Amino acid sequence: MQEKSAFRSIIGLKCPHCRKGDMFVRPGLFVYKDIFLMHENCKVCDQKFEIEPGFWIGALWTSYPFIVLIISPFILMAISGEDINIWFLVGLMVVSLLMLIPLTIRLGRSIWIHIFVRYKK
Ligand SMILES: [Zn+2]
Repeated sequence: MQEKSAFRSIIGLKCPHCRKGDMFVRPGLFVYKDIFLMHENCKVCDQKFEIEPGFWIGALWTSYPFIVLIISPFILMAISGEDINIWFLVGLMVVSLLMLIPLTIRLGRSIWIHIFVRYKK
């Protein structure tokens, strides 16, 4: 079987250790139910996902860049001097953030754990 790259493993929200098992109970980047619900251990290799208590708090660091990416266009539009209602922009920004919350949280966690857990075939 072809090996999965780290990138594909991160995007696919797979276990960083075997790159096969799913980390989340409901896999996917656009899942709006049980966003935080994860398996405790990998179903394939038994890797523990929450390596230590509070491990996922660190994932805020890896979620943050996505949030910046999402809000930047709105901030640029707001300061561009174009005649756009600021509340319309704020509304659009909030809706965008809410729609992309699973993506930011889950990718953040996936990147975070891939930093700490090495891949073993
Ligand atoms: Zn695994």
